[in-house]
Amino acid sequence: MSPLVPRRPDLAAMTGYHSPQVEVDVRLNTNESPFPPPEGWREELVAAVRATEFQRYPDRGVRALRAALAERHGVGPDEVFCANGSDEVLQCLLLAFGGPGRRAAVFEPTYRLHSHIARVTGTEVVTGGRTADFRVDPEEAGSLLAGAQPAITFLCSPNNPTGRSDPPELVRHLAATAPGLVVVDEAYGQFAPWSAVGLRGEGGVGGGADVAGLVVVRTFSKTWAMAAVRLGYLVADPEVVAGCEAVVLPYHLSAVTQAAGLLALDHQAEMEARVTQVAEERGRLAAALAELPVSAWPSDANFILFRTERRDAAAVWQDLVDRGVLVRDCSGWEGLAGCLRVTVGTAAENDRFLSALREVVA
Ligand SMILES: *Cc1c(COP(=O)(O)O)cnc(C)c1O
Repeated sequence: MSPLVPRRPDLAAMTGYHSPQVEVDVRLNTNESPFPPPEGWREELVAAVRATEFQRYPDRGVRALRAALAERHGVGPDEVFCANGSDEVLQCLLLAFGGPGRRAAVFEPTYRLHSHIARVTGTEVVTGGRTADFRVDPEEAGSLLAGAQPAITFLCSPNNPTGRSDPPELVRHLAATAPGLVVVDEAYGQFAPWSAVGLRGEGGVGGGADVAGLVVVRTFSKTWAMAAVRLGYLVADPEVVAGCEAVVLPYHLSAVTQAAGLLALDHQAEMEARVTQVAEERGRLAAALAELPVSAWPSDANFILFRTERRDAAAVWQDLVDRGVLVRDCSGWEGLAGCLRVTVGTAAENDRFLSALREVVA
């Protein structure tokens, strides 16, 4: 027997979350921004790091960054909670509002960390499906939620890995009818035609009574080109923010992370220019995929899901790796047989991907 204490029995059967990394030239597998952050931001951050009093704990209340984010979204600072990536935001939500004896609902296929973090926190996961075009059906969702009474219902808009955003009517309907919190993960929100943050503002600061349980989660990792920083946040009712603050570790957000986020908000225009550029490339990529023997789904995000119709997806994935191009193999995920997901890269990266794909699916 091992001298070590065995792991929690409910974790023993779980595999960790892995996104396989392979050393290749063209990495289009994790939906990062293909561009580095603005040079001006980098210089300002270096200056902020120099001026940091490293012997002191950071601002535990994250006041300056929360105030700046609140102003951007037209909500109060007590409606904003920041953490180390949106994954930590999700973890705090599940620690505070999920846990043993409670349930979280997800609609598969979707972002795998929603169910993974739920299980890690001892929250039971109930799973709903999606329509053939990967939409959440309001009636099916309604009966799942009525039966399971989840404390938290996760939406992902645009949905990773399928690409489409949820319509406002669905989010408003679920927020008004779900028994618990409705968490909309908007990691790719800047690429989408609308944001659920706007719904929270509908009833003035604090949101209308019917959207009181609506939680919108955002990240600096994707559109803001700051995946290395690890910064995400939520916009929600002050009670939700207080719940997250009750479970998060003290001083969880480093002074450098707080400064990085605050400075980034001054570079809004550059960020928007990048979003436009990626959206243009996404259009070009989609048009090129339409000419190949694959089926691609429409995307409101910075990635495209496609099915390799003629050849086995895992074999196509390997052939792409052999040509120096890494995409995400989703073919083993529930409901995604034969599917690969490609992140929109720079024009040159997308060209490399397209010419490799042309060779391997021909
Ligand atoms: C990438 C991604 C995240 C992770 O964001 P971090 O802020 O880097 O933790 C969250 N949600 C979805 C849907 C994602 O695709």
